[in-house]
Amino acid sequence: MGTAPSGAPAVESVRATVYNVPTELPEADGTLAWSSTTMVLVQVTAADGTTGTGWTYGAPACARIVEDALAGIVRGSDPMNVPGTFDAMVKAVRNMGRPGVAGYAISAVDVALWDLKARLLGLPLHRLLGAVRETVPVYGSGGFTTYDENQLVDQVLNWVEHQDIPRVKIKIGESWGTNLQRDLARIRLVRNRIGTDVELYVDANGAYTRKQAIRVMLLATSEDVRWFEEPVSSDDLIGLRDVRDSIPADVTAGEYGYDLAYFERMCAAGAVDCLQADASRCGGITEWQRVAAVAAAHNLEISGHCSPHLHAHVAAATPNLRHLEWFHDHVRIESRFFDGALDPTGGSITPSAEAPGHGLTPRLSEMEAYR
Ligand SMILES: [Mg+2]
Repeated sequence: MGTAPSGAPAVESVRATVYNVPTELPEADGTLAWSSTTMVLVQVTAADGTTGTGWTYGAPACARIVEDALAGIVRGSDPMNVPGTFDAMVKAVRNMGRPGVAGYAISAVDVALWDLKARLLGLPLHRLLGAVRETVPVYGSGGFTTYDENQLVDQVLNWVEHQDIPRVKIKIGESWGTNLQRDLARIRLVRNRIGTDVELYVDANGAYTRKQAIRVMLLATSEDVRWFEEPVSSDDLIGLRDVRDSIPADVTAGEYGYDLAYFERMCAAGAVDCLQADASRCGGITEWQRVAAVAAAHNLEISGHCSPHLHAHVAAATPNLRHLEWFHDHVRIESRFFDGALDPTGGSITPSAEAPGHGLTPRLSEMEAYR
């Protein structure tokens, strides 16, 4: 059995598997439509047989990058030294470019390595990272532009009335901001049905122009929207700042960030009221913690983008956390694919205090149908 310098069993194997899960209804936001979601699952196994699991929602090509560019670095590595392996992976993808597919691949491996380390130590991952809270707030997220009124209302009321989640987010900016009246009608409909006590969030996925985004919020003033995600492109830092200065809702962005410099630029530009980051893209748990520190240095909170089960433990260990996104698409897949999936009833999730690692076990035989 290979033993690492720390005395832990060294990493012996790395596997990446691609799963494709069709959506139950057509889904779209302001700038993209899709009919299925791809998960790339990564499993790292130590010499004693202990396995850590990570994943990302990226292109199938992520699996190829894990196998061709990263597995050789991870095999033989010391599972106690996750930041060292992370650093070696980042350096190895220099010429293929970290933003994009390589960043997703590194993220999935990093999460698998943290899970492995916690399992080897017999600790829940949030205890290994150092917990600052027992429960993690979430908000219901979906409200796709492809839903009709009944589908939209059913979904938000399921969060609010059945699961008692006091925060919901819907997509607006339909068809690159060309259907403003429908956007406004959907905001009004949802506010009307959820009542005044539930926080209403909207996400335009960068669909609007600067003035258009401001006009939408002025026209919706009486609906008390609290969170306006990517009102304009997240590449338009000046535009985000303009919108932020003109409306009462918090302006947020960050889901397409892949490295610390990106998040630092966004924060330094005064572009957001709350920074978002996605551990399945930005570099796993290792980098998400550093992104949270960048936000903290700018007196900002951080919110986890999508894949709530992947963020649950690091969120519990992050002092300046606002919440996680209980994203319909990913919740559906994670609840189906993993034993140990979490319950958002009451508006928060509670990572297990007993189960080692992130507490999730993939149901590989049931997943086979989607491979
Ligand atoms: Mg978004």
